[in-house]
Amino acid sequence: MAHITINNVNKIYPDGTPAVSNLNMEIASGEFLCIIGPSGCGKSSTLRMLAGLEEVSSGQILIDGEDVSNTPARDRDIAMVFENYALYPHLTVRENISMPLVARNTPKGETKSRVADIAARLSIESQLDKKPAKLSGGQRQRVALARAMIRNPRMFIMDEPLGHLEAYLRIELRREIRALHESSGGTTMYITHDQEEAAAISDRIAIMYDGVLQQVGTFEELIDHPVNRM
Ligand code: ADP
Ligand code: MG
Repeated sequence: MAHITINNVNKIYPDGTPAVSNLNMEIASGEFLCIIGPSGCGKSSTLRMLAGLEEVSSGQILIDGEDVSNTPARDRDIAMVFENYALYPHLTVRENISMPLVARNTPKGETKSRVADIAARLSIESQLDKKPAKLSGGQRQRVALARAMIRNPRMFIMDEPLGHLEAYLRIELRREIRALHESSGGTTMYITHDQEEAAAISDRIAIMYDGVLQQVGTFEELIDHPVNRM
């Protein structure tokens, strides 16, 4: 579980491009928060700063009260899923999914049972000995989700993880992501540009526009009290 505090965070890329302006946000422990907004509005930059893949230009990010603004990504205990699956092509599905446990010297028996468990939850048991190239897009994204969710990190970060998939698969997988989030007890930040997906999967939605957070609330709050018509 992780409580996230984002304090006055700004991101200006080295080439001078402003991406995020004066961002303030609190994400409760165990919460599922979606960020929505048009392309280029700063969603990925926000998530990448939280993950530690991108430095903040100014401001602070706190996880459970601890300032992690200068903590390397590998020490933040955050698992990530992106739109492009980023699987290792030369490894089998089983090896891809096991990677985060093997990297942490988890005992073999435990690794085996956790792979079996997550593969069953994501319905990819019969794919475990295949290479990613033999899988469909939907199956590959299940493998990427299994790899991220095989550990119980304190936080999940997902950047349009279902963006490439067909509508019926998106609906099926978002249910599974939500269920895995709940059973893990972690905090999730999830980017989508699909409002319906955001409403279905999240506890609260943050709307960004042009690097600025416009509003945060439940779907009902945003519908009832829009601060800004776009
Ligand atoms: P979103 O995910 O909402 O589409 P991004 O956070 O990727 O938006 O981008 C926000 C702004 O920052 C855009 O203007 C984008 O072009 C710019 N940007 C993103 N990454 C970089 C980078 N590495 N260098 C310079 N500008 C960038
Ligand atoms: Mg993006």
